[in-house]
Amino acid sequence: MNNQLDPNKKEKVLTGDRATGQLHLGHYVGSLQQRISLQDQYEQTILVADLQGLTDNGHNPKKVSSNILNVVADYLAVGIDPNKTTICLQSAIPALSELTMYYSNLVSVARLQRNPTVKNEIAGKSFGASIPTGFLTYPISQAADITAFKATLVPVGDDQLPMIEQTNEIVRKLNNVAGEEILVECRPLLSKVTRLPSMDGKAKMSKSMGNCIYLGSSEKEISKAVKSMYTDPNHLKIEDPGQIEGNVVFTYLDAFHPDVAYVADLKAQYQAGGLGDGTTKKILEECLQETLKPIREAREGFTSDKAQLIEILKAGSEKSKEESNQVLNDVKRAFGLDLF
Ligand code: ATP
Ligand code: MG
Repeated sequence: MNNQLDPNKKEKVLTGDRATGQLHLGHYVGSLQQRISLQDQYEQTILVADLQGLTDNGHNPKKVSSNILNVVADYLAVGIDPNKTTICLQSAIPALSELTMYYSNLVSVARLQRNPTVKNEIAGKSFGASIPTGFLTYPISQAADITAFKATLVPVGDDQLPMIEQTNEIVRKLNNVAGEEILVECRPLLSKVTRLPSMDGKAKMSKSMGNCIYLGSSEKEISKAVKSMYTDPNHLKIEDPGQIEGNVVFTYLDAFHPDVAYVADLKAQYQAGGLGDGTTKKILEECLQETLKPIREAREGFTSDKAQLIEILKAGSEKSKEESNQVLNDVKRAFGLDLF
């Protein structure tokens, strides 16, 4: 996997987030920070994935519809600039659903069932025998999203690596059918923190698990979450040597504290004994409060102007419609379905 960026190369960047809740700290370090810096160098599109959100919420669509603008407000609050980045809505771009339909003919059910992320998510969602077809096939729809914008670079957390692999398989198959290079392959761009854990250190922080510190979390919620973080269960007295591995407080200090040397000192002290969990949690809480305060405040401003959020999403979707229709036409031609 090539994680190197070449500023001279014309890359097209595409990412998205399911509209299943507010964005959280995992999004921030896993993908949003990268997008903020990429928007100055490259052409970037960000997709609010409402259709993908529906794949496990078909019976509870409000969860998706009520979160679309929340996600847009989160983007703006962290500094994604709609003048530099196109922000669009998946359901407003018909070519994405059409492409999914075409690509479905190139992917076997067995291949979808083998996708490790989908497998893992199915196990965690207790669907039983009633897995929605849309859920099993969402990697195909994600391939449609990526290829519709001819994206070459996809900044994601590591749970998305199997989706990139599956996308590239579809690209190769389609190009093979076409006999020419219609679609382009993409590569993931992983950040320093590829999977931010939740407070208990077990699962990844994720909207559907509700185990999150959100970008809009209040001071109180942040404080409560930090206090509940898993540390080292054998570090009973302050003078005891403590363990860093698996200690969520240090995982977060590594992810969020700007002073790397200071965190290294803290780690050394903790490992030697003499540094209590109360102190490390206090340091982390201060750091997170400082990081999230300006984002929360900006977010409040954006959520109070719903019309502006809708306008941004609409303009971005219009632009994306045109762009994706071009790829759709090429794909239809590849299947010989371009009579008129
Ligand atoms: P859901 O539970 O509805 O699937 P989610 O919290 O997993 O929501 P997504 O919208 O599925 O969020 O993911 C959007 C992007 O954010 C993806 O690139 C994903 O890899 C990244 N991401 C999500 N959670 C984390 C995390 N905890 N650490 C790092 N990256 C993450
Ligand atoms: Mg997810």
